[in-house]
Amino acid sequence: MTYQYWNERMETLPHAELETYQLEQLKKILAVAMRTPFYQKRLSEAGINSADEIRSLADIRRVPFTTKHDLRDGFPYGFLSVPKDEVIRLHASSGTTGTPTTIYFNKEDIVRWTNFVARSIYATGCNKTDVFQNMITYGLFTGGLGFHFGGEAVGMLVIPSGPGNTTRQFKLMQDFGTTVVHATPSFLLHVEAKMREEGVTRGSLALKRAFAGAEPYSEDTRRRIEDLLCIDVYNSYGLSEMNGPGVAFECQAKDGLHIWEDGYIAEIVNPDTLEPVPDGEVGELVLTCLCREASPILRYRTRDLTGFYTEPCSCGRTHRRLRRITGRTDDMLIINGVNLFPSQIEEVIMSIKEVGNNYLIVVEKEGVLDRLTVKIEVRPNIFMDDTRPLNALKERIRRTLQSMITINPRVELHESGSLPVSEGKAKRVQDNRPKDV
Ligand code: AMP
Ligand code: ZN
Repeated sequence: MTYQYWNERMETLPHAELETYQLEQLKKILAVAMRTPFYQKRLSEAGINSADEIRSLADIRRVPFTTKHDLRDGFPYGFLSVPKDEVIRLHASSGTTGTPTTIYFNKEDIVRWTNFVARSIYATGCNKTDVFQNMITYGLFTGGLGFHFGGEAVGMLVIPSGPGNTTRQFKLMQDFGTTVVHATPSFLLHVEAKMREEGVTRGSLALKRAFAGAEPYSEDTRRRIEDLLCIDVYNSYGLSEMNGPGVAFECQAKDGLHIWEDGYIAEIVNPDTLEPVPDGEVGELVLTCLCREASPILRYRTRDLTGFYTEPCSCGRTHRRLRRITGRTDDMLIINGVNLFPSQIEEVIMSIKEVGNNYLIVVEKEGVLDRLTVKIEVRPNIFMDDTRPLNALKERIRRTLQSMITINPRVELHESGSLPVSEGKAKRVQDNRPKDV
């Protein structure tokens, strides 16, 4: 298999032909999935014993949904469909250090994934003359290595800078003439603020474009970043369960995100009834990964809310476009691009014996970045005026939390009974970030 960043035939294939291709691929991946312990059981329970029973794309509705919960239950190898010695890489969902949702790739899977990222990058107008600074976390998170490989496949000069340290980022941009960056939208705003603070002039940079994703943001935020930095910003959507970046991406028309339908089957369902919504309406995105053999995932409930644009795109690509993701159907928070479930915090703090019964998670904007504060009541027998042991306890909780959720929280300790008690269902999260989506 070879790297490819522009596949004219596939990217402009008439939609009916694309659907025929999807059906073929679906049958192939179903046969692969039947080799995994999880789907062996799940599919036979649904009465599917052979991939040939799927005769049309609509038959995908016979395949049961897969949830994050299923993936956790199947940890670590329940979704593996190939012998372990064929696996060459694993990745995991951001922010999870407990039982992560892990995905595995064989050699071909990496090439296929890379090609979708490369295709996305090329669709924004980048080419081998570009210098690409990848300012996103490397490691288990898919954004770092996913874009890194994709950028190399386009032939760009890739600078694996990772996030943080803006002074160093500016230096790299100036030294190597960076023309395109990848970051979360909040980090891009932070970069702009730092530029002003550090007296870095726009004229000293060769920047033309940015890929921004990993968290929701509004059209207004996009325009703001574009105006402040004088660049074009392209929305990048992906999730680790579906390889990571390169699932859906904006082209130069910047009018919705092309979902690469030769790699993914996208359905939009009503999150309550799980029935398909009428074309164009917003609902929960359900994705089937057609392009990863080592750990296939079928009909994955992403919890992300979006809908299809129904009109064709001016760029000529035939793959349908998704609306900007506006939110989620579950309580997952995204803090500076890192996923966090309130239950992860609860698990950590409730295992600490000095912690009382009530706590509150507060998320707010500090400048342009997200700030997480965990307000915790201590047990009644803890004296609040004894500051030394209290500070030590606070630090211990902060460190434990940070190691478990990979986000550095601010911890506040409160006297027993002093945090607001909600009547009825406890309200544990106060998200004070402006709702601009
Ligand atoms: P992860 O598995 O850690 O890559 O996180 C994936 C999740 O991040 C998705 O399910 C979305 O909720 C969110 N996400 C990623 N990209 C975007 C984007 N461009 N807009 C909105 N949300 C995004
Ligand atoms: Zn387009």
